[in-house]
Amino acid sequence: MSGGLLERDAGRDLERALERHCAALSECRACGDRVAGAIPILSTARRPRAMLVGQAPGQVEITGQRPFAGRAGKTLFRWLAQAGLSEEEAREQIYIAAITRCYPGASESGRGDRVPSAAEQELCSHWLDAELALIRPAVVIPVGRLAIDRFLPRAPLDRLIGREHVCELDGRETTVIPLPHPSGASSWVHGAGHKALLDEALSLLRRRLRPE
Ligand code: SF4
Repeated sequence: MSGGLLERDAGRDLERALERHCAALSECRACGDRVAGAIPILSTARRPRAMLVGQAPGQVEITGQRPFAGRAGKTLFRWLAQAGLSEEEAREQIYIAAITRCYPGASESGRGDRVPSAAEQELCSHWLDAELALIRPAVVIPVGRLAIDRFLPRAPLDRLIGREHVCELDGRETTVIPLPHPSGASSWVHGAGHKALLDEALSLLRRRLRPE
């Protein structure tokens, strides 16, 4: 069988496997009905080359029914456009996952969303593990502190963002390019020198996602 046919079959297999995976994920209620209407939010990418991992969906995603459907998403897709992908291309080519998949509710302070507890992160982690094993992404883009900590050793964000890292996932060396969280609740991007680090991260992504 030619390389092209093998590639096409592998693409179809991944598409079917992700369909089955997302059907199972959409039924998950392991955290109970703590927040009314909060259900798993799913990526629509079926033949992705890369994975993006956020923290958890926000309230707006309950209505939008797709990841990064609100204001944080507008910022994220503006950044990804700088890396060479329109929102449509990004949603098709990048599988958008998260540390937890259901809206966790508002934070007690009222500023932003509640950070999912360690128990919730643990309960949800098998979905992400399964996606990493199925997709075997060439590039992983963790977005925000919680996701970055899932892939890289703990360090200040200005030592992590703007660089490429290598992480062993499922016995394979995988490129990891972290981004700050695009939500207005995160002020990191406004810190001194941080915009330049973000620009560098987006150039690195452009080189990986849009090779000349
Ligand atoms: S957060 Fe994860 S584990 Fe909890 S109900 Fe949603 S999908 Fe299931």
